[in-house]
Amino acid sequence: MATSNIVNKIKPSATLTLNSKVAQLKSDGVSVIGFSAGEPDFDTPEEIKISAIEALKNGFTKYTPTSGIPELKKAISEKLLKENNVSYSPQQVLVSCGAKQVIYNCILALCNDGDEVLIPAPYWVSYPEQVTLARGKSVFIESSDENDFKITKDDIERNITDKTKILIINSPNNPTGSLYTEKELYEIVQFAINAGLYIISDEIYEKIIYDGEKHVSPASFGKEFFEKLITVNGFSKTFSMTGWRIGYAAGPIDVIKAATLIQDHTTSGANSITQKAAVTALQGDEKTITNMVKEFDKRRTYIVERLNNIDGITCMLPKGAFYVFPNISSLYNRDICGQKVTNSVDLANLVLDKAKTAFVPGICFGSDAHLRISYATSIENIEEGMNRLEKLLNEGIEHKG
Ligand SMILES: *Cc1c(COP(=O)(O)O)cnc(C)c1O
Repeated sequence: MATSNIVNKIKPSATLTLNSKVAQLKSDGVSVIGFSAGEPDFDTPEEIKISAIEALKNGFTKYTPTSGIPELKKAISEKLLKENNVSYSPQQVLVSCGAKQVIYNCILALCNDGDEVLIPAPYWVSYPEQVTLARGKSVFIESSDENDFKITKDDIERNITDKTKILIINSPNNPTGSLYTEKELYEIVQFAINAGLYIISDEIYEKIIYDGEKHVSPASFGKEFFEKLITVNGFSKTFSMTGWRIGYAAGPIDVIKAATLIQDHTTSGANSITQKAAVTALQGDEKTITNMVKEFDKRRTYIVERLNNIDGITCMLPKGAFYVFPNISSLYNRDICGQKVTNSVDLANLVLDKAKTAFVPGICFGSDAHLRISYATSIENIEEGMNRLEKLLNEGIEHKG
C-alpha cells in the first residue's frame, strides 16, 4: 500500500466498527439500545445558541487569530483563576477545535522521535494514536478495579526511562469515571515534575462529579509545577457542545507558542462563531450544568445497582464523568447462548447480536476485562438495556449443578 508508515500504524477503532454495526441494525428496523455515546444527551443551553446566532448576524464570520479571539482567551484565563485557582495569562492560552486537537498539538510540540509518553490505562482512545502520529512511543501504566483504576508515583517510577517525556493525566477519567483525590494527584504530579516530565492534565470532565467530591487542577499546586504542566479543558462535555468543536490548553509560554505554530499551518483558529458562543458559555450561570449532573447522578446509581445484581458482573461506583466500566471477566470461558466468550469484543458482539444492546469493549481503552457503558442516555433506555443484558445472561449461561 502507498500510504505512509505512520498512518499504517494507526489502529482502526473497534468503536467505529461497533457503531457501523449498530447503524446497520437500526436501518434494518431492529430496536437497538445504544450505550456507546461519548457525549451528553442534553441540548446546548439556549443562551449559547443565541450568542452564536448573534455572531452570525453581526458578520463575525472571518478568520480569527490562530490562538483564539482575545475576548475568549481573557475569559478562559479568568475562568482558570476563579474556578481552578491557577493564574495563566491570556498569552498562555491556546484555543483549538476541541480538546482533542489541543492535546494533539501539545504532544506534537513536545515529542521527538521515540520519546516515551506515559499513559495510565484504561485511557481515552485517542491518546496512544496521537502519540504514534507524533512519532513518540506510548508506555501504558496498568491500573485495576481494586485501586479504583488509579496509579501511584511508584507506578510512574517503575515505568520511567531516559526517554520519558510526558505523563498524561485524565481525572475524572474516561472510560472508568475514576477521580483522583487532591493528595493522590499531588504525589503523582510532584514526582513526575521532579523527574523532569511534562504533564498534560485533561480536565474535560471537571464539572461532572458526584457525591460532593471536588476536582483539583494539578497546576494549582504551586509555581514550580507551572513550567511543566499543561492544563487542558473544553466545552464539549460541560456545555453539551460536542459538535461545536472547541477546547483549549493553558501552559508554559514556549509550549503554547509551539503548539500554536503547529495550528497556524494545520487548521488556523477555531470556528469564529463557536468562539463567541464559548465566551457566553463561560459567563453563564451553573444551573444548567448542575441540573445535568443531577440527572447523570440518578442514572449512575441506577445502572451500577442493576449491573451489580447481574451474576458475573461487578461494577465500581464511579465518581465522575458519565461512564461505568464494569468488570465482566468472570464470564469469560463460559458457554453463553452456545458460544464461548473469551474477551470483551466477544461479549460486546454477543450482547449486540442476541440482546440488541450496544456496549463498547474495554479493550478499546486498554482493558480487556471490562465493558464501557455510557449513561448519557435516558433512564428508560438504561432500564431496557439492563433488562436485556440481565435476561441474556440469566438464560444464556449454562449453570452447572
Ligand atoms: C471527549 C473527550 C475529549 C475531547 O473532547 P473535544 O470534543 O475534542 O473537546 C478529550 N478527552 C477526553 C478524556 C474526552 O472524553
